[in-house]
Amino acid sequence: RELPGDAEKSNTIRQVRGSLYSRVNPTPAAGEPSLVTFSEEVCSQLLGLDPVEASRPEFALVFGGAAPLPGSEPYAQCYGGHQFGNWAGQLGDGRAITLGEILNQQGNRWELQLKGAGQTPYSRRADGRAVMRSSVREFVASEAMHYLGVPTTRALSLVGTGDKVLRDLFYDGNAKFEPGAVVCRVAPSFVRFGTFQLPASRGGDDMKLVKMTADYVIKHHYGHLENESQKYVAFLKEVTVRTAKLVSWWQAVGFVHGVLNTDNMSILGLTVDYGPYGFMDKFDLMYTPNMTDFQGRRYAYRNQPEIGLWNCVMLANALYAADLLGQEEAQEAVDAYGQTLQTEYNGRMAAKLGLLSYDRDLVVELFKLMYEDEADFTNTFRALGSVTSTSSDGTSHKDQGVTTSGLTPQLRTAVNKILTADREQAWERWLTQYRNKLKAEGRPDQERQAAQDAVNPKFVPRQHLLQYAVEGAEAGDPTEINQLMKVLRRPYDEQPGADPKYSALPPPEMADKPGVCVL
Ligand code: AMP
Ligand code: MG
Ligand code: MG
Repeated sequence: RELPGDAEKSNTIRQVRGSLYSRVNPTPAAGEPSLVTFSEEVCSQLLGLDPVEASRPEFALVFGGAAPLPGSEPYAQCYGGHQFGNWAGQLGDGRAITLGEILNQQGNRWELQLKGAGQTPYSRRADGRAVMRSSVREFVASEAMHYLGVPTTRALSLVGTGDKVLRDLFYDGNAKFEPGAVVCRVAPSFVRFGTFQLPASRGGDDMKLVKMTADYVIKHHYGHLENESQKYVAFLKEVTVRTAKLVSWWQAVGFVHGVLNTDNMSILGLTVDYGPYGFMDKFDLMYTPNMTDFQGRRYAYRNQPEIGLWNCVMLANALYAADLLGQEEAQEAVDAYGQTLQTEYNGRMAAKLGLLSYDRDLVVELFKLMYEDEADFTNTFRALGSVTSTSSDGTSHKDQGVTTSGLTPQLRTAVNKILTADREQAWERWLTQYRNKLKAEGRPDQERQAAQDAVNPKFVPRQHLLQYAVEGAEAGDPTEINQLMKVLRRPYDEQPGADPKYSALPPPEMADKPGVCVL
């Protein structure tokens, strides 16, 4: 609902009060929409739509925002959020439009949302569009995360709009035109922490919306809590637990979201809003892919667990402000975060090392080695499966005039560096401890290695691989994105036939590239 005069006020964000959304239709782009790629699994299994439909021209029209989906009543969500620790007030979907929900044959409800299909009442001065670069990145990563096992929103389709969109690429200071695109993303719900925060911050009549939203979300997405005597406490606790689990997943696969603002936190504990995210290549606790966060590194790898908690506290504040729970209950619910994170994180790290019980010293020492020698996160963990407990399986390394037998060939490739004798010894010392631990646990090597391969992915969407896919898609060639997706759908399989480039380190000129700002 627009307040009289709001729209005329210059330099003021139009405030939508008393409502959680605004009706708005996609704005067709001027160009000819064309389908770049789509996810067959999302199409058939989630939406119950025959994938043949994707080859019809109507598919690209509807999911590129050029034609209405018959029967749908599109809207943009209203929400607020804390951005980089500061309350930012109303944000809302500036370029995301929900087409509606589909109830599939299994009785599951899926919300379909177009990202980049034109302005909404929340666009402020921005254009409501998305470029191929950011759209490829969202499509690929959200699907890849699903196959990694990480809770995430999905992507149905990637459509080129045929339009040019002006974007400012922070790093070179030059604005340039880029091909426009629209991703249709899919999730049970796109409600965010910020959906609760905004009405809570406004108070008055808007406060009712906090309870309405909580009731709605509980009814549709946390149905098992509906009859709890303290359902809002139970709700907060479960969101907190899910968030802690999500963050432990990110840490385990070396994923850094990059913009963990509360408006980008899913109430369902899903990874949502893929912007300048990144999967780490070289291990660095302070890694961030977000170049607007290079100074503070608030959302760097090592800070994600704490930020997840901070965001849950902000959600708790909103529910508390609306009187849905008391202070102590809120505290108690949020306290579940630390315990869950620790259990989940420790469990995941133990599994990555092929251990039955978590050994903090081993993990910390490994991280130190990886940091010192700029070892690749994904490949180093994958290579741990090549270490056997029974004997020294390492290869000698004579370049330095020293013969050692610590690192397996796989590990050497992952470290990707000629080690000095000192460093070689440091790795060996760790490997000796590691082998001792494996011996002590007494698990058969083969069994352990298989279990390890099932949790240490071989393939993740690295920045440079995404870049190749972007370049292909921009040139109208989906070959690269499709080949990349084929590999990423089985991230834990060895896939000996796959092009080695998909598990190789970035070439020097592509290393350390940020996730590229996506606005
Ligand atoms: P983000 O950091 O991507 O979560 O975006 C912050 C806010 O800016 C959200 O409300 C977005 O919807 C909005 N926004 C981002 N890009 C655009 C765009 N191109 N047009 C309109 N709004 C945008
Ligand atoms: Mg966002
Ligand atoms: Mg975004």
